[in-house]
Amino acid sequence: MPAFANGQRYLSRNGPERERFSDPDAAWGHRSAVSTRKGGGFYGFKLHAAVCTRTGLPLAWRVESANHGDALFALPLMDAVRERGFIPETCAMDKGYDSRAIHDGCEAVGCRPIIAQIRQQKARTHNDVPTCAHGSWRFAGADFGRKATKWRCPTGECSPKSVWLKADRRNPLIPRETKRWGDLYRGRAAIEREFGRLKHQYGLAPLRVRGLAKVQLHADLTMLARLTQALARARAIPLAA
Ligand SMILES: [Zn+2]
Repeated sequence: MPAFANGQRYLSRNGPERERFSDPDAAWGHRSAVSTRKGGGFYGFKLHAAVCTRTGLPLAWRVESANHGDALFALPLMDAVRERGFIPETCAMDKGYDSRAIHDGCEAVGCRPIIAQIRQQKARTHNDVPTCAHGSWRFAGADFGRKATKWRCPTGECSPKSVWLKADRRNPLIPRETKRWGDLYRGRAAIEREFGRLKHQYGLAPLRVRGLAKVQLHADLTMLARLTQALARARAIPLAA
C-alpha cells in the first residue's frame, strides 16, 4: 500500500535533505511482480494476510512498514489463524517464505507447508531424492505420523527398491513434484485476488491516512466491512431458501 506521502529523500533536485516526513512510519519496500504489473520498490506499508483459498476471505492480517520482509510474519499469522479457531491443513506460500523455520513451524502445528523453492545456483539438485541409473526416484507416499516420504526406483531394479526420507524444507511431506502440491500451490492465487478486491472494491487503497497506527486502523475497518458483508451474504442464503 503506497503511503499518503512521498518518500523523496531530498526536498528538490540537488536540494537539501528532507528533515520532516509527512508519514514518518512509511518506508521503502519491495513488491514482487503480479500478473501484468511489474515488481519494484514502493514507499509505504505492507498488508500481510492469511487468506482462505476456499472462500477467498482474510482470516488474519497485519500491517507493517514496507521495509520488513514478508517471511517475518508468516508464523505469527498462522498462530493468529489458529487462535481464531481455524485449523488449516495446508498453507501455500511463495518462495519468499522458503525457510527451514517456516517449514518446521508449519509442520509443528500439523499444517503441511506448500512453499515454492528458492533454487540456489550452486546446489546440484533441488531435493535430496536419490537417483540411479534408471532415472530419478519417484514419490511413493508419505507417512504424516512419521513425517517422512517414501521414494522408489522408477524400474524397481535397484536394491533396496525404496527409501524413506525425513521431511524437511527440501523434501516436504507433500513433495513439490506431485500434482497435489501444484493444485494446492495454485490456491495462492486467492490471496492476490483478495488483495485486489480489498484495494479496488473495499477502499483499502489509496491510503488517505498517515502513521502506522492509523493505517492499521484503516486496514482493520476495511476488513471489518469485507467480513461483515460476507457474513450477511452467508446468512441471507438460508433465509431465502
Ligand atoms: Zn534404479
